Amino acid sequence: MTKVTIIGGGIAGVEAAIFCRKEGFEVELISERDYLFIFPIAIWIPVSSLPFDKATIPLKSLAEKHTFSLTLDSVIHIDAQHKTITLKEGGERKEEILIIATGSAKMSHPGLENTFNICSEPEQSLKIKSAIDKLIQKGSGKIAFGFGGNPKDSSAVRGGPGFELFFNLHHQLTKLGIRDHFEMTFFAPMPQPGARMGDQALHMMKMLFERNRFHTRYGKKIQTFQPDRIVFEDDSILESDLTMFIPAGNGSHLIRSSDLPQNDAGFIRIDSTCQIQGIPSWYAIGDVAAIEGPEWRAKQGHIAEIMARIAAHTLALNHLNKKGEVKTYHEHLAILCVMDMGNGAGFVYRDNVRALLLPLPWIGHWLKQLWGYYYRYSKLGYIPRLPKL
Ligand SMILES: Cc1cc2nc3c(=O)[nH]c(=O)nc-3n(C[C@H](O)[C@H](O)[C@H](O)COP(=O)(O)OP(=O)(O)OC[C@H]3O[C@@H](n4cnc5c(N)ncnc54)[C@H](O)[C@@H]3O)c2cc1C
Repeated sequence: MTKVTIIGGGIAGVEAAIFCRKEGFEVELISERDYLFIFPIAIWIPVSSLPFDKATIPLKSLAEKHTFSLTLDSVIHIDAQHKTITLKEGGERKEEILIIATGSAKMSHPGLENTFNICSEPEQSLKIKSAIDKLIQKGSGKIAFGFGGNPKDSSAVRGGPGFELFFNLHHQLTKLGIRDHFEMTFFAPMPQPGARMGDQALHMMKMLFERNRFHTRYGKKIQTFQPDRIVFEDDSILESDLTMFIPAGNGSHLIRSSDLPQNDAGFIRIDSTCQIQGIPSWYAIGDVAAIEGPEWRAKQGHIAEIMARIAAHTLALNHLNKKGEVKTYHEHLAILCVMDMGNGAGFVYRDNVRALLLPLPWIGHWLKQLWGYYYRYSKLGYIPRLPKL
């Protein structure tokens, strides 16, 4: 049987493993973690609405269900010219057919160690929970949430989870009856954070911010993070007892130190079928790949899954004599997100034609929860998958 090796057990890597198996390949998934972390629902861990383990799926269970083999190891080097990868424990191996799905790293900022980041390692969500619990015990304080930009690749900017956690924290404090004792500020270096969601969404966010008494500090570059404040480029400060900051993504050391073709931000250059440019039968999918397209394009979970399915399909066309049309990820580019607010949500949609944020009071929150269950139990094969989901 023709073998496909996949590096990375996240949303992209697992979807690729499932679909490569469906196509009839033998599959080996290499992951440094023994579980898949469902990032889109991780925003509920810090506000005590979701236990950590409910945002994880053991890779062993997925491997058994979909009959792929699982290697728990870390890939420490990739040599594209010789088509080899080096595993920390397993040593160097030649890989004829490879899918890289290792996600993205984060840009560095001075004083980042004084911040929390919901988009970092999964364990960060628990650290944020503990910091929030401490602040709640104290009974009052200043809270600052924000996200940064990457001038080299706008698709790597991730603000949505920052807004979601901010709204959820507001909801938690309101429920506890102590919201009035906290000053909540959202900050970002760009003048209009969230602009890629479109004008209507920006307008609605402004309304929601005013209604919830959120302060903003927009359009100022960040100089440094200190334990109790953020210092901006003009030396102005924002005091904060709890700073949650999501730096924009960039290429990881593994990719940057390799000879893989990369864009200026260190993401792997691919063609429209997700094949790495100039390296036959090697693919890159999900956050690790340089996504080409309109300025508003974003690295998202649903795009990661589409890329995974397209890579599996293309591999089957090229290696298993599958008949069918060539498919590309470009035709699926859209921003699609249920932005949770704790007691409701906004349905965000953006493509080349439309840009909308539809308020979904209460039902939106339950919809996102439902998606979390659907994701877990459909991947584990307990419920059938809906077409294209
Ligand atoms: C908090 C949060 C909320 C989000 N909300 C949404 C949402 O509502 N909707 C949406 O569409 N998207 C959302 N996203 C984005 C979405 O989660 C990502 O686009 C998606 O997780 C990307 O999947 P991936 O598999 O490419 O990367 P990842 O999920 O980052 O997975 C990469 C995997 O590779 C492994 N790995 C890395 N390096 C190595 C190595 N050297 N060796 C072996 N294994 C390695 C990692 O351990 C990890 O398991 C959210 C993201 C975050 C962080």
